[in-house]
Amino acid sequence: MGTILITVDLEDWFQVENLRSHFPRSTWDSCKFRIEAPTHALLDLFDEFDVTATFFVLGWIAERLPHLVKEIMARGHEIASHGYNHELCSRLSSKNLHWDLYRSKILLEDITGQQVYGYRAPSFTMTRVLVNLLAEQAYYYDSSYNSFSLHDRYGSLEGSWEENPNGTLMSKEGIREIPISNLTLFGRSFPWGGGGYFRLYPFPIFRNGVAAILRRQGYYLFYCHPWEFDADQPRVGSLRPDLRFRHYVGIEKNLDKLVSFLSVFSDHSFTSCRAYVSNGF
Ligand SMILES: [Zn+2]
Repeated sequence: MGTILITVDLEDWFQVENLRSHFPRSTWDSCKFRIEAPTHALLDLFDEFDVTATFFVLGWIAERLPHLVKEIMARGHEIASHGYNHELCSRLSSKNLHWDLYRSKILLEDITGQQVYGYRAPSFTMTRVLVNLLAEQAYYYDSSYNSFSLHDRYGSLEGSWEENPNGTLMSKEGIREIPISNLTLFGRSFPWGGGGYFRLYPFPIFRNGVAAILRRQGYYLFYCHPWEFDADQPRVGSLRPDLRFRHYVGIEKNLDKLVSFLSVFSDHSFTSCRAYVSNGF
């Protein structure tokens, strides 16, 4: 049996990069929070299927909804960092990225009373500078590397990395990397880690791909966001057609799809990123 790592990037519907032109940061405080209902739906589902998940929490949200962070922790899940302001790491100066990482870590540790070990970059914008800064700030692992190179925003894996026996990677600075799972087929990489691709692909095809990844790698990492399960979220008009598709495709049926996913793979072990990455070290 393999290990499945369910990860949730905890951010609200108006903080998504695809909607950035409509909701600049200055508007966030006037937007209505919708995050709690879909987060509760996910937590209930995780209870039902005995899933321990990892929540990469945006600092901006944690500061305003600390009770939600506490509840997630109390229900047995790992709290990790998604940065403070949802700025793409590739667009921040080293100094500003340092501050974003530091502020989110301290804030989450204050709320939970526990150490924060993990980090995920907004839009998987992994950079070499990020890895150095994570090591400096005593983060233990990162889960920002997405090998699917055709997406316009994803970062890359620079520098030297060694592969650990459990399929994770180790940088020379001591940061462990849990890459997002993708499927290699006919020598090509297909995005298979979740998000919009989970919503888009027919379930039987997605399921077969995950089974293949589990057979080859021993683990599968899935990512999602609460807003992907919020079918009634306000629809933003005049959005570029490709962004509209990426953001809204399959939202109505997504919770049912996740139920099917958890049912089909229920004999696998669902654990937190921290537990998985620490295994054997
Ligand atoms: Zn995000």
